[in-house]
Amino acid sequence: MKRKLAVGAVLSASALLAGAIQVSAGLAYAAPNPTALGRADQLALAAAQAPAAAKALGLGAQEKLVVKDAVVDADGTRHFRYERTYGGLPVLGGDLVVHQAANGKVKSSDKAASGSLAPASLSPKLSAGQAASKATGAVQATVGISKDADEAALTSVSGASGDAQLVIWAADGAPRLAYRTTVEGVRADGTPSRQLLVTDADSGAVLSSHEEIQTSNATGSGNGVFVGSVSLTTNYTGSAYQLKDATRGGQYTTTGSNYVNAFWDDSCFCMTYGDGASNTHPLTELDVSGHEMSHGVTSNTAGLNYSGESGGLNEATSDIFGTLVEFYANLPKDNPDYLIGELININGNGTPLRYMDKPSKDGASADYWSSTVGNKDVHYSSGVANHFFYLLAEGSGAKTVNGVSYNSPTYNGAAVTGVGRAKAAQIWYRALTVYMTSSTNYKGARTATLNAAKDLYGSGSAEYNAVAAAWTGVNVN
Ligand SMILES: [Zn+2]
Repeated sequence: MKRKLAVGAVLSASALLAGAIQVSAGLAYAAPNPTALGRADQLALAAAQAPAAAKALGLGAQEKLVVKDAVVDADGTRHFRYERTYGGLPVLGGDLVVHQAANGKVKSSDKAASGSLAPASLSPKLSAGQAASKATGAVQATVGISKDADEAALTSVSGASGDAQLVIWAADGAPRLAYRTTVEGVRADGTPSRQLLVTDADSGAVLSSHEEIQTSNATGSGNGVFVGSVSLTTNYTGSAYQLKDATRGGQYTTTGSNYVNAFWDDSCFCMTYGDGASNTHPLTELDVSGHEMSHGVTSNTAGLNYSGESGGLNEATSDIFGTLVEFYANLPKDNPDYLIGELININGNGTPLRYMDKPSKDGASADYWSSTVGNKDVHYSSGVANHFFYLLAEGSGAKTVNGVSYNSPTYNGAAVTGVGRAKAAQIWYRALTVYMTSSTNYKGARTATLNAAKDLYGSGSAEYNAVAAAWTGVNVN
């Protein structure tokens, strides 16, 4: 179910186009036409290759590779994404991508964490129950405190959902034994809260926490209907009709009243859109919905951690693909542009939520990389990558697209020539799905997109050079 919405939806179309053939696991993987491999076959191939890949990477006997995703290029080159376990425990930050030639030879790898995953001990001092109550207490201590202007403060905490799970924490610093606990609550604007905490298995100290409910960062009122009259698939229960459409991922309309926000939830792989202020300004603009759905694509591919620079890249990926969805749909009532949420009147004065040509126009986002950009809220550190994408697609300086005026600066003042949206989109998608990992930062994103451009257009191509120039334009060198 999880994969159907995000990855399946993206890859099944190409599988259909390629006329997927049936290949049984371990049998015919020297298939003459790699592009004919269906999604299930690609994943089966990744699973079959896991032991050999682990050996080639020199992983220890305690480490096992668990398939997360697989991409097989037209020439047979394979990119297998794995999570790792250590002593049977999930390793947070253990994800990696193995790049194999068509004959199975490992060419290179991208790892979220380099070095050994071995923790000092595999015996926790705290029980799972003690860990869960300490994690709940840590969240309870934040009730009523607004972390920043864009996330409503917690109003209540209902407690840990399920048991604390023993894991290895390798995302930051020396690997150590830890517990992963989900603590649920509600925020002041009605947004549910589901915070994922990683705590030290001996002391209970919080090593990491992040909100699993990924909002559009929307506050304010808006304007509704963008596509005019549409036909609806409904569900008849025998006595009444529900606004529930089983043919489109089971989407349904309920009474979530006077709610001025939208969010993506990784745990159900679902989205929620508020009806807006006074129940009359729904947050359903296409770039906002494309943004939320793209969180599902990121979650099933690079899995970019939702904090620090990787969190900014996660948010930017959603802004980039949300914008591309808007251009693709090309609706008369939603003129495609590089503005995010320009029709939902989020700020109450008609201004958009975010600007890609010069992100600082929102008053908070970063135009350029700096060593402290990762300390910003992920909706603002995303500015660097949004700006990169605009420069790569459209180039620097003044430009009018679909009647909307832009003026995109560069850090060093040097002009950047764009390669167009289609190529920029291909480069970002390949970087996300083939090269980025959970810990990728801006420097890593530069490398990942250069690798993607090299694969697609050749090293030293105009596209490759434009990627380099656009990153330099946002001070990522
Ligand atoms: Zn988001």
